[in-house]
Amino acid sequence: MEKDNMELKMPPDKASSSQLPVLGLSAKRGLDKENVPEPKKKRARGPGTAATIAISHPRVPTMATMPRVKKQEAAQKATLKSGPWHTTAANTAVDPTTTRKGPSKRPAWDVKGQLCDLRKEFSACQEQTEVLTRENRELRNQLGEAEQHTKTLNAENKALKAENKALSGELSEVQVQAKQDQLELVKLGARVLELEELLHNQEGLIQSLQEEQLRLQAERRDLVIQLEVQTTQLQESTAALAKSQAEIITQAALLAERTEHLHGLEMERRYLHNQLQELKGNIRVFCRVRPALPGELEPPSGLIVFPPGPNGASDPPTRLSLTRPSDDRCSIIGGLPGPPVRYDFSFDRVFLPGSRQNEVFEEVSLLVQSALDGYPVCIFAYGQTGSGKTFTMEGGPGGDPQVEGLIPRAVRHLFSVAKKLQGQGWSYTFVASYVEIYNETIRDLLASVGGARKCQGGECEIRLAGPGSKELIVTNARYVPVTCEEEVESLLHLARQNRAVARTTQNEQSSRSHSVFQLQISGKHMGQNLHCAAPLSLVDLAGSERLDPGLSAGPAERERLKETQAINSSLSTLGLVIMALSNKEPHVPYRNSKLTYLLQNSLGGSAKMLMFVNISPLEENFSESLNSLRFASKVNQCIIGTARSNKK
Ligand code: ADP
Ligand code: MG
Repeated sequence: MEKDNMELKMPPDKASSSQLPVLGLSAKRGLDKENVPEPKKKRARGPGTAATIAISHPRVPTMATMPRVKKQEAAQKATLKSGPWHTTAANTAVDPTTTRKGPSKRPAWDVKGQLCDLRKEFSACQEQTEVLTRENRELRNQLGEAEQHTKTLNAENKALKAENKALSGELSEVQVQAKQDQLELVKLGARVLELEELLHNQEGLIQSLQEEQLRLQAERRDLVIQLEVQTTQLQESTAALAKSQAEIITQAALLAERTEHLHGLEMERRYLHNQLQELKGNIRVFCRVRPALPGELEPPSGLIVFPPGPNGASDPPTRLSLTRPSDDRCSIIGGLPGPPVRYDFSFDRVFLPGSRQNEVFEEVSLLVQSALDGYPVCIFAYGQTGSGKTFTMEGGPGGDPQVEGLIPRAVRHLFSVAKKLQGQGWSYTFVASYVEIYNETIRDLLASVGGARKCQGGECEIRLAGPGSKELIVTNARYVPVTCEEEVESLLHLARQNRAVARTTQNEQSSRSHSVFQLQISGKHMGQNLHCAAPLSLVDLAGSERLDPGLSAGPAERERLKETQAINSSLSTLGLVIMALSNKEPHVPYRNSKLTYLLQNSLGGSAKMLMFVNISPLEENFSESLNSLRFASKVNQCIIGTARSNKK
């Protein structure tokens, strides 16, 4: 468009002078070839075709757009400048043959001829003018068409540009969208990968779940089979159980019957056992002669003899005879040695020096059992110091089980029998205490070692356990519940330690004091609503030896004499109490000594008492042995009334 405008502004002279003849030629050619309007073709070809037309047009509009006057002037100027001959090309175009025979060959005088030529030329010019006019018209038409076409093209171009712009906009939008889509695509690609991975995982999971399912199904099948088997078994078992239950009910009834019967038997046993014990005597005296110890002078033969029983050696020994050697005093008086004197004694049982601890306990065990049946049992060891009392009650040194004494053996026996009686519905509890009575003072042997050796927290006094109770207890002394022999053993160990301390600090007090081990036994039979309680007392008495009054001179001796008197007093009180009980005297002097007062409940009518009289085999101890045997004999003659079990 701009190109067109520029060409239109060009100076008209240049355009006309240089282009007019060519225009004619080109106009011809244009008519033939280029200037034939082909609107349909151009429209079809679009912008490219329009550009071709725009290039070929300038020569046409130069003339076409000139004003008519200017065109004529231009034509005249061209004629004048070049003369009529100058337009050879135009003439040649009209008639080339006449142009070769031009005016140059006419003589000057041939005016006619020249006129003729001019006329010809004029007519040619006229023709040419007509031609040109025609051409001009055609060109105008063409120009009009071209302008129209250009307008159309411009409109098209404009539309195209608008379209182009719109498309560009669209394109950029599309590009932005494409970019976004691409990003989205990338994202989607990543997401797809992610999902694929997830899918893969899920597939793996599904596979494993499927496998698990298969496994579980198989397991389930097995379990179903097992269940069926077990259901069958259960049904069988239920049937068997029902049968068993019926049997159990029968058995339970039988058991109850038998338990009742057993209980009856047990009560009968207790009764018979007690009868037996009573037949043996509620007060029994056993004599035990210890062997001579290493380093001691062997006693002369015949000093102590053990006469056999009526059935000979098969009878357990019950007798012993002491034969006093010749009396020197007699020889002085009479001039001759006095005859030996024999003292015969008979007891419930006599244990020879060789007797072992278990043999001794065998004789005692049934008596101990009476304590479980609810009869108070009291066992004493009486004798001079060194005669074997402690050995008999507690045992020998070194913790050798062979030489264990009555206390550990009795306790073990009680625990074992109590356990058996559990099966018959009896349950037992045991509470242990261990005190010693020195010079009418009570001390707790279970107090902590190194303590004041007195009772914990104050003086030990004998008191009633409670108002209305007949049970006696020692205040401030320990009463330890025990459930097994080990516990009792540790208590005995503690007591031994306490006594050992006393031995060093208080001049052999242990042999000068009575030690009293007591086990409070209580049993319950829930089914029969029975209750029994009784103490088992095992007493290691103080040495019974008398002190020679001639020897007591200094304060130590006087103290010793006082001790001895206290011992003798308590021992004689014991004898008196036994006598009083035996003689059924209205007053029993229990309170005359701490020992008898403490043992009051173990010595009464229902109680069973056993006294060991321990004898030294030595000749030097003859007199003391005799005294002990005499005391024991007195006791042995006592019969305490029918024992009654402490049953409630
Ligand atoms: P007591 O307590 O009467 O003073 P012991 O029991 O302490 O006398 O005995 C004194 C010594 O004799 C101790 O060494 C003890 O081991 C020993 N003994 C006592 N009786 C026997 C016995 N039957 N067999 C062996 N040794 C004994
Ligand atoms: Mg002793």
